[in-house]
Amino acid sequence: MPTNQELYARRQAAVSRGVSNATEIFVARAENAEIWDVEGKRYIDFAGGIGVLNTGHRHPRVMEAVRRQLDLFTHPCFQVSPYEVYVALAERLNQLAPSPAPNKTILLTTGAEAIENAIKIARAATKRPAVIAFGGSFHGRTLLTLALTGKVAPYKQGFAPFPAEVFHVAFPNRFHGVEPEDSLTALDNVFKADVDPQRVAAIVIEPVQGEGGFYIAPFEFLAALRKICDEHGILLIADEIQSGFGRTGKFFAFQHSGVAPDLVAMAKSLAGGFPLSAVTGRAELLDAADPGGLGGTYAGNPLACAAALAVIEIIEEEGLLERSVAIGERIKRRMNELAATNRFSSIGEVRGLGGMVAIELVQDRASRRPAPALVKRWTGQSLKNGLVLLSCGVHANVVRILVPLTASDMIVSEGLSILEHSLEEALAA
Ligand code: PMP
Repeated sequence: MPTNQELYARRQAAVSRGVSNATEIFVARAENAEIWDVEGKRYIDFAGGIGVLNTGHRHPRVMEAVRRQLDLFTHPCFQVSPYEVYVALAERLNQLAPSPAPNKTILLTTGAEAIENAIKIARAATKRPAVIAFGGSFHGRTLLTLALTGKVAPYKQGFAPFPAEVFHVAFPNRFHGVEPEDSLTALDNVFKADVDPQRVAAIVIEPVQGEGGFYIAPFEFLAALRKICDEHGILLIADEIQSGFGRTGKFFAFQHSGVAPDLVAMAKSLAGGFPLSAVTGRAELLDAADPGGLGGTYAGNPLACAAALAVIEIIEEEGLLERSVAIGERIKRRMNELAATNRFSSIGEVRGLGGMVAIELVQDRASRRPAPALVKRWTGQSLKNGLVLLSCGVHANVVRILVPLTASDMIVSEGLSILEHSLEEALAA
């Protein structure tokens, strides 16, 4: 078998530089929360395929559901000859989504596609053009979702012009001094300075920012947004692509707030490792576009639909929502213990909603200036020590934990020990 280094040299020669790799290890196989590389080295997986694997790598029930589907058909194309797994999944998502019933669903393939379609649906339904998004947000890499994304480097650099009629407001981020009232004032200023609220189709928000740094939108802020949307006939779109499907201890992070969005975009952990995304929301909104206006050749792939139906059963029957809370508490407790010692004064904040936990590193706690170089050393040391770990954050100074919710206590503990030890090494380096 070729080594990681040999494969990486081939990758460099054959694959676009525009796709980056968080690690240079090539996967040979993976099971639940563990990965083995081509050289036989084992890793604990705290990245979960970037939030795709709340039910772990190759969950046996997901594998079984996909195998069964594989033996029946793989691609009649829903737009040519529909099939039941698509409809069955839509029915389940209509029941689960936090938008007010009756709901309808459209299935797609990627997260960006779900957001693109949510915006198309909002425009068709309201007959308005504009969209408001937040600073630090990430909504995808297609041109419209890049326009919505609130981070320039590396995502937007070199790709302008972006679609028009997109406006940004500061995300309420208390750790960095932005209170919910500040964001609401900024929104009001956008309405006064940039766009009449009567021309706004939607406000799109991640209830917990993912790539942006795992900042949790205060629930009172979501409630205030709901009120503003209702006042002006604007739709509220929840981007639950990273925060959804059990990650925060509920199917959708919005459910913690008691606020109901009009449309919910989901992807990632929806299908346990298979490419699938969805937009679910109020039925009359999903019916606003004319037939043929929405869809996609691969959208709602039958293998991925079968996987998603299995994922929903697993989350419910294996108690993964409760497990998410337990894992989150455990990680937060351990990291807060570290943060309380002098050695780890670079830990600026440990935060999380359920199992969606992050540790933000700072140069010092008084200034809260970001420490991205230290985070880079931390993730690098972790990999050497057998833990796949991802960073995030507008300033790349946050470590995020997306361990499968199916991971055993032993694996989580082992991962946390590596995390601690690797931070010590990173600080000493
Ligand atoms: N929205 C959020 C919140 C995400 O985290 C991501 C992916 N990181 C996307 C949208 C885009 O998803 P995809 O990469 O599947 O297009």
